[in-house]
Amino acid sequence: MITGKNYIGNKLSGKGTIVHKTINPKLNIENATAFIEATDNEIDEAVQLAWEAFKIYRKVSGKKRATFLNAIADGILALDQKLIDIFTAESGLPEGRAIGERGRTVFQLRSFAELISKEDWRENTIDKAEPNREPLPKEDLRKTLIPLGPVVVFGASNFPLAYSTAGGDTASALAAGCPVIVKAHEMHSGTSELVASAIIKAAEKTGMPNGVFSNLVGRGKIVGTALANHPKVKAVGFTGSIAGGRALFNLASQRKEPIPVFAEMGSINPVVITPAAIANRYEEIASTYASSITLGTGQFCTNPGLILTIDSNETQDFIKDLAEKTIAIDPQCMLHPNIKSGFNKNSSSITAQSGVETVAKIQGKLKDNYAASQIASVSGTEFLNNPKTHQEVFGPFSLVVKCKDEEELIEIINGLEGQLTGTIIAEEEEYSNLEEIIDTLENRVGRIIFNGVPTGVEVCPSMQHGGPYPASTDSRFTAVGTNSIKRWVRPISYQSFPNALLPKALKNI
Ligand code: NAP
Repeated sequence: MITGKNYIGNKLSGKGTIVHKTINPKLNIENATAFIEATDNEIDEAVQLAWEAFKIYRKVSGKKRATFLNAIADGILALDQKLIDIFTAESGLPEGRAIGERGRTVFQLRSFAELISKEDWRENTIDKAEPNREPLPKEDLRKTLIPLGPVVVFGASNFPLAYSTAGGDTASALAAGCPVIVKAHEMHSGTSELVASAIIKAAEKTGMPNGVFSNLVGRGKIVGTALANHPKVKAVGFTGSIAGGRALFNLASQRKEPIPVFAEMGSINPVVITPAAIANRYEEIASTYASSITLGTGQFCTNPGLILTIDSNETQDFIKDLAEKTIAIDPQCMLHPNIKSGFNKNSSSITAQSGVETVAKIQGKLKDNYAASQIASVSGTEFLNNPKTHQEVFGPFSLVVKCKDEEELIEIINGLEGQLTGTIIAEEEEYSNLEEIIDTLENRVGRIIFNGVPTGVEVCPSMQHGGPYPASTDSRFTAVGTNSIKRWVRPISYQSFPNALLPKALKNI
């Protein structure tokens, strides 16, 4: 039997007895390797090692940590076709997507390397002493940001590279000076082990302490829970379902020492299309949105799952056109049989609600694990009265709401749960009427898109990927872009410190 093991620092370990295999969703067969779930002792060993590594790693200079991140990026590229093959075999995603996601992963690592090569990301501030100030002298105060400690990162099912083992959470935590223990996603244990091997090699090559990175496989409720509960773990990064993220958030806040959980979870990403936009260019909007709804088989957290319109004859034409164009796109494979069954269950639950009409759905027998794209519609009143129609359907599905007027549309936005994104499709002549829609969206979302699509999340400092709950557990932070480093640090002030004892960046020059 081929076995997949855990990386506890630089040591491969597989002492457990519980094994699982990943699935090739395109072929609907198990992949060959059997992965051995980490035992309680192995989990403890990984965290203790991370704690010891933290004592050293937190003091490694930004420039040296940058060398480490760049070496990880180089190592990932050196895995070459082997990585692409395992990515596609474990996810059902096409080779082009694997290459694109690898590029994004490498770009993120290099962006964080560039950021930490200088110290200004720490927002250092210096308030010098004023001994002669009246009525009281002012003390010397200097503030910087320091790393929290070992971070546990849960690999995401829908981004086997970019939001998994060496993805955004890991890259930002390592950049901040925190050791990382990854709980690999069970569906992508092979991809995770391979990427972990590149991280371990990079750590050794650049002289990082053993334990700065570990990769554990196993069930979330066992391995993930034990990790999040470990007293020496100081923060958690998570991308996935509301149920999973919320369970970890609750667990972390009930620990003797509560810790932050940065979970990025559900979102239906409302899109407002104004009457003038529909009147002027509904066919173009329908084409653009059919592509966005089906992109990556709809398995993106920014998938446009809710389209808000004002009802009219032209709106009816738009909905018909959108539905036809959506189902004309060839069906694609989903990430896993469980994700496919979740898609079927959740789309059926919405279309079974009173007043919801299935406008079009791909018909006929599909290959195993392929999704039947679908567009449904409902009136604004039915939507307002039935929260079951607000649920996320993870996959190529969108619900178009026909509001009776703008007042109802605003009421709907106000009643939505927190979202990652909100989009406005409008014409220039309407700009003066959009203020209320913009104000209402601002209160519900983390990013507002104008005349575009929510799918496609640029990695740059101005990106906000997060939003009011349940889009994320802390809307003040982003999970994408270099500012995501702020999740893993805390401010510290030094009062009346001698220059010799201050951190380098806070010293008098
Ligand atoms: P998930 O079930 O939330 O799992 C994500 C990770 O968290 C996995 O490693 C999982 O381990 C672990 N986990 C789940 N529940 C846990 C718990 N109670 N305690 C500790 N760890 C736990 O998400 P998924 O596997 O990615 O997909 C399932 C569904 O989540 C999808 O069908 C979709 O509806 C939704 N989803 C949404 C987004 C989004 O961005 N909006 C992204 C991905 C998924 P195990 O795998 O071992 O359980």
